[in-house]
Amino acid sequence: MSEQLERLDRLPLRTNLRGLSPYGAPQLEVPVLLNVNENTHGVPADVQAAITEAVAAAATGLNRYPDREFTELRESLAEYLGHGLTRDNIWAANGSNEVLQQILQAFGGPGRKALGFPPTYSMYPLLASGTDTEYLRGVRADDYGLDAQSAADQVRETGANIVFLCSPNNPTGTGLGLDVVEAVYEAGEASQAIVIVDEAYHEFAHDNTPSALTLLPGRERLIVSRTMSKAFALAGARLGYMAAAPEVTDAIRLVRLPYHLSAITQATALAALSHREALMADVEDIKVQRDRIVTELLRMGLKPAASDSNYVFFGGLEDPHAIWQGLLDAGVLIRDVGIPGHLRVTAGTEPETTAFLVALEALLDGQA
Ligand code: PMP
Repeated sequence: MSEQLERLDRLPLRTNLRGLSPYGAPQLEVPVLLNVNENTHGVPADVQAAITEAVAAAATGLNRYPDREFTELRESLAEYLGHGLTRDNIWAANGSNEVLQQILQAFGGPGRKALGFPPTYSMYPLLASGTDTEYLRGVRADDYGLDAQSAADQVRETGANIVFLCSPNNPTGTGLGLDVVEAVYEAGEASQAIVIVDEAYHEFAHDNTPSALTLLPGRERLIVSRTMSKAFALAGARLGYMAAAPEVTDAIRLVRLPYHLSAITQATALAALSHREALMADVEDIKVQRDRIVTELLRMGLKPAASDSNYVFFGGLEDPHAIWQGLLDAGVLIRDVGIPGHLRVTAGTEPETTAFLVALEALLDGQA
């Protein structure tokens, strides 16, 4: 145990936090950063200008607490999502991590169980632990797929109170069929399970991939979570949101801190939502780079997973850590997600993607 952890451990910490290290991917100074699935295209100039203007206007009223109900922002998010949703269906917080935490605060807790299907988003177990919710690790097929029957059986067998379905899944990038969501929802009837579909990367899905938003009518235990960190290139602004039945958003109001969304955050998100054309054009380019990575990795003899996200998970590597280090030495940071033989790379701009592909091919040639 490191000296720092030992010092921490001498504190009267909660038992389930003992021995833990804070979560977070390395933040290194490297020319090409493709490790945390950000939108590397940057904020388009017109969106930057709109945000600057909106934040300047908000600054004049910073002596007052912000609109605790962020009504205008909820209206704008509902309009963006469509599907007949209104502001009563929408909730938002500082990143979808905070939305997920609030869901666990409201519906998890001691004596309750949350079920996830690893490999999946690594924050789920940490959010569970932070709220004293038991985290159950479900099972996927050997190819990391998850079918409706298997997922529903696991929900029934565990009697989970909360189910995390990540679609497209992080780190694999692959989307889930809506049949899986429907089956999990039905299977959760007995335990009254809250079913969360984490669609953080939905905007990058191939055309016509339906969203779980289409399943919301009549399903009051279903929550669809989204974020402005990825498609909207606003990871630094921290705005995540969810759509659900109005009674679910009311339940979240019981645990949210008053005024949790700052006036600056609300103004920033609203400005980006009303200037989204250039952002959506960048999403199209990212999809092109993502598909290019898949094609090129196949040509190099590697095994990329099908991706509906802005990143590609790939296998077929004998020594992934050596490749990760070699790429870093070449100025390209990608992610070692700790799965044998695999790495994950974010689709960047065209030059960044080229830098990754060129450096990777050189390393593979060097190993051959
Ligand atoms: N869900 C998934 C699947 C993610 O990959 C991430 C971030 N990497 C998040 C949620 C959280 O994103 P944010 O808090 O920035 O909205």
